[in-house]
Amino acid sequence: MAHLEDPFPVPDPTLPFWRTQLHELDDHRSTEQLPTYCDVLIIGAGYSGVATAYHLLNNNPSPPSVVILEARQACSGATGRNGGHVKPDLYFNILNYSRKYGAENAAEFARFEAANVLAVKDLVEKENINCDYHLTRAVDVYLDEKHAKQTEDSYKELLTLGTANLSDVQFTSGKDAESLSGVKGAKACFSFTAAHVWPYKLVMRLLSLVVKKGVNLQTTTPVTSVSETPNSDGTWTVNTPRGSIKARKVLFASNGYTAGIATQFAHKIVPVRGICSRIVTPEGKESPFLPYTYSIRYGPSLYDYLIPRSDGSIVVGGAKGDFWHEKKWWYGVTDDSKMIEPAKNYFDGLMQRTFKGWEDTGAYTDRVWTGIMGWSSDFMPYVGEVPNKPGQLILAGFSGHGMPLICLASKGIAEMLKGERFEDTNIPKLFKPSVERLMSEKNEILDSLAKPAPPSKL
Ligand SMILES: Cc1cc2nc3c(=O)[nH]c(=O)nc-3n(C[C@H](O)[C@H](O)[C@H](O)COP(=O)(O)OP(=O)(O)OC[C@H]3O[C@@H](n4cnc5c(N)ncnc54)[C@H](O)[C@@H]3O)c2cc1C
Repeated sequence: MAHLEDPFPVPDPTLPFWRTQLHELDDHRSTEQLPTYCDVLIIGAGYSGVATAYHLLNNNPSPPSVVILEARQACSGATGRNGGHVKPDLYFNILNYSRKYGAENAAEFARFEAANVLAVKDLVEKENINCDYHLTRAVDVYLDEKHAKQTEDSYKELLTLGTANLSDVQFTSGKDAESLSGVKGAKACFSFTAAHVWPYKLVMRLLSLVVKKGVNLQTTTPVTSVSETPNSDGTWTVNTPRGSIKARKVLFASNGYTAGIATQFAHKIVPVRGICSRIVTPEGKESPFLPYTYSIRYGPSLYDYLIPRSDGSIVVGGAKGDFWHEKKWWYGVTDDSKMIEPAKNYFDGLMQRTFKGWEDTGAYTDRVWTGIMGWSSDFMPYVGEVPNKPGQLILAGFSGHGMPLICLASKGIAEMLKGERFEDTNIPKLFKPSVERLMSEKNEILDSLAKPAPPSKL
């Protein structure tokens, strides 16, 4: 087994664009001392933890007492450092999943992702959230002829199978792919409904709503351990350097760091470091407007993903081609205070070399940052009760792809925290944490390195 770094958030992460305008709750502590007891204790103030608190209190006439413990500042983990791309997987991995899990489970997965894009829209409109949410289409562009052909074949097979709903997916090939996408050398492209968002603003608005309703938020309060067994009254003891809290229910919303405090997830949810950037056009110059979000697929496992922002800037992540071959840069890495050295200049000139009409814009990389994802060893998130730990639940392991999953997954977890069974929620069956998943020796992240066509997210 590969060595995993110290699985706790480091205190001095790189500064992502999204965190250049901080919310007043960023380093908030609701009370000077930690409470000694709560009904629900949430570990992690990212999208998962905060959206769960929101759903738990929303339209709840007898709300539980809730404490959120966050190791660093609110929304300073992956959510505050990602690409802002809310892009469902409607076709790309669906044939693989159909073969592996059965067509109905694969279709359920795709339906759930598509539903999330619109669920975020509903949430943003309902709560009047100023987070630059923009509903658009994602365009997946294939630059490699062979990869384009393989994907076209898989798509046609999916159409024949007929289980997944592909009515929103448009396939374009040949010369039209280049003119539709604006990407030089495009061999084929797929487009479908997606969105982009300022993730920090989305989460911080939800956080302000729940703090107003009485949620006790404690930032810079890392959880160091959770008791191995429940106390005699059925509560769990959650320990921090500032004291302990007894909680009736505990939710691990701790993403890539989960194994540090729930060791059964070691090698099941693996910290994986990614890199992202913001590209801007110099004052006085103009760049062509990009109407969509994009994934630029250079080959089966190599891709960049990008969103255009209304301020004219572009947020781009990926760069795997420059560092993926050496695991030490990304696998099992929890340190987002450092750059991924071989990739730190990757984004320079990306727009000029990729998009038609950008050659003379002078667009340059304004900022580069890193962040820690939680990749699960079977690429499915863990959403539900932790096996053999009554009262402990988990919402983590989104494998670099949480934005089209967390809105509805957190709703389902909130229902479970209120007492619903997993089976009575809308969470896809594949996401259920099971003893079999935890016992499996398989690590598809590492297996995928040896294969020509590993699953690729975003
Ligand atoms: C560079 C990068 C780009 C990405 N781009 C995209 C994208 O464009 N689209 C997409 O869908 N997904 C993307 N992702 C993935 C996406 O950001 C995540 O899936 C999602 O944000 C996960 O949310 P979360 O709340 O589960 O985790 P996080 O946002 O990481 O929140 C977990 C929180 O738990 C806290 N925590 C951890 N351990 C402890 C502890 N022991 N005690 C207390 N607190 C603790 C952490 O400090 C953190 O704040 C990207 C991720 C990265 C890093």
